Amino acid sequence: MKIKLSDIDDSYESHFLVDDDSFFRRVKDMTDGEEKTSAVSVDIKIKRKKDAYYIDGRLKGSLKLRCKRCIEYFDNDYDESFSLILTLSDDNDSDGTSERELKGEDLQRELLSSEEIDLLDLIAEQLALLCPMSYVCNDNCNGLCRKCGVNLNDGDCACDDSNESSPFAVLKNLK
Ligand SMILES: [Zn+2]
Ligand SMILES: [Zn+2]
Repeated sequence: MKIKLSDIDDSYESHFLVDDDSFFRRVKDMTDGEEKTSAVSVDIKIKRKKDAYYIDGRLKGSLKLRCKRCIEYFDNDYDESFSLILTLSDDNDSDGTSERELKGEDLQRELLSSEEIDLLDLIAEQLALLCPMSYVCNDNCNGLCRKCGVNLNDGDCACDDSNESSPFAVLKNLK
């Protein structure tokens, strides 16, 4: 989904659903993770001020993440807003920068490389940022048994807890 800059007079607004595999693969390539993405509901607003394009977006959907402890997938709903500025020139004296400094805003700022805005690219990038580096399904997740690999959230396994090589076993032998 690409928008030609020449098609944006003062503002542009759109609401749509992204639901295609090539997009999801793009997000996955950006994260190197094992998360799975499902349909993303997108609200996007673009306002133009001279050579700067102010983008406000909102992404809603659900990510399937794989718990680092028990390796089960779990759903993680998100509803995130983002703002960024796309500019045609990297000139620090441009209006965008001074305005930003006046407002004290710390907006993501990117340089436009062509005469169009690739919305899907932009959304994939934002979505990749939402994917955490490390996550567990639940702070109390018990993970997998290191001996038999059973998911300990489903209950105890048959492994014997008293480990012969534990420091306590050594103390017992000293007596
Ligand atoms: Zn877990
Ligand atoms: Zn076990």
